[in-house]
Amino acid sequence: MNIKEFENKEEKVFLIRNIIEVRIPKKSYLKLIKKYPKEYIISFSKEKKIFHSITHRPLYYITKESGIPLLGYNAFGLIDRGTNLIQVRPITGCNLNCIFCSVDEGRFSRSRFVDYIVDVDYLVEEFEKISKFKGKNLEAHIDGQGEPSLYPYLVELIEGLNDLKEVSIISMQSNGIPLNKKIIDRLEGKLDRINLSISALDQKIANKLHGVKYPLKKILELAEYIANSKIDLLIAPVWVPNYNDEEITKIIEFALDLGAGKRFPPLGIQKYIPHKHGRRPKTTVMTFKEFYAKLKELEKEYDVNLILKPEYFGTEKRKRIPKPIRKGESYNAKIVLPGRLKDEKLCIVKNRLVSIRSNKRIGGFAKIKIIRDKDGIFFGKEI
Ligand code: SF4
Repeated sequence: MNIKEFENKEEKVFLIRNIIEVRIPKKSYLKLIKKYPKEYIISFSKEKKIFHSITHRPLYYITKESGIPLLGYNAFGLIDRGTNLIQVRPITGCNLNCIFCSVDEGRFSRSRFVDYIVDVDYLVEEFEKISKFKGKNLEAHIDGQGEPSLYPYLVELIEGLNDLKEVSIISMQSNGIPLNKKIIDRLEGKLDRINLSISALDQKIANKLHGVKYPLKKILELAEYIANSKIDLLIAPVWVPNYNDEEITKIIEFALDLGAGKRFPPLGIQKYIPHKHGRRPKTTVMTFKEFYAKLKELEKEYDVNLILKPEYFGTEKRKRIPKPIRKGESYNAKIVLPGRLKDEKLCIVKNRLVSIRSNKRIGGFAKIKIIRDKDGIFFGKEI
C-alpha cells in the first residue's frame, strides 16, 4: 500500500495513494500504536476522520459492508440510462476549478460539501451483476462529478472491468492531470479510449478557464503520448463563448495533427451549458441551433465529424435495469449519508439511493415521496 505519514500537533495523518487522508487524534493514536499495527489502526480506529486530500472535504468510503447501494445517486456508483453504456463513478472531487464547471467542483466549490470514494471490488462486483442483465457488448464509461483519474485504484478498476466478458469497451473522461506515461503504459490493452478535456492551447486562456495554473505543456505531451498508444484519444473541449472561440479551430487542428480518433471520433466539442448547481462565467450562451450550425461549418472546413452520433461509439438502446421504486410512491426511508449539497441527505429505499433535502440526522428515518425517477436516479421530498 502506498502510504505516506506525517503529523501535526493534534493529529497523526496517513495519506493513502496521495488521495485518501486519514486523520487520527494523536492521543488516541499513541495508545493504539502500542497494541496494533498501523494498517489495523487506519482501518479500524473509531476516532479517525477521512478527507479528500485535493478538495479537503470529508471523504465517505463506500464499501460493500456499508450496505450502501451503488444505484440511484448521480455522484457515485453506476448509472444506466437505457443503453449499452454504463457510467462508472468511482470518486468525486476535482483538481481543477473550471469557471464553466457544471457541478461546481474543485477545492473552491461553494456548493459541494462532501466527497465519496467507492471500494474497487464492490464497484466491479456490482457492475458485473448489472452486466448479466444488460448483456454483451457493454461500454463501461468511467466519469463522474470531478476528475475520475484521481481514483487511487484506477488501474485495478480498469483491470477488473476488463475481466468481465460482457464488457467490450472501457472509456474514461479525464482532464489528464493525474495521468502520466507510466499509467498510460499500464492501461494499454485494457482501456480503449480517453476523452481528454483540452479547452485551450493558449496558456493564459487555459489558466483562466480552469481556475488554476494549468499544466498545458504536460497535457499536450500526454495527448501525443496517448495518440501514439493503443488507447484511442478523443479531445473534448468545452466551448465557452467570449473565452475560447479562437481556440476551437486550433484544438481541431491539434487533434487531427496528432492522429487522435483512430477507432472513435477524434473530437467531442461540448457546448457550455449553465447548470442550476454549476458555475456560471460571464458569457453568452449559444443555443443548440447556433452550436450545431457552427459545428457543421467546421465539419466542412476540416472534413471531420464533429456532430457526434451514438452509433459512432457503438452505443445502442438496451433494456433498462428495472426500477424498484417509482415517481409518486411514498416510503419511510433510512437516512444513511450526507449528500453533496447543503441539507442534502441520501436515504435507501429498496436497494436504491434517494436524494432528499432534509435536516434530519444520519441514521434516522424520513417519510418521503419520490419526485423524480429518470434514468434510475432518484430524488424525493420529505412529507
Ligand atoms: S469541469 Fe471537469 S475538470 Fe473542470 S472543475 Fe469541473 S469536474 Fe473538474
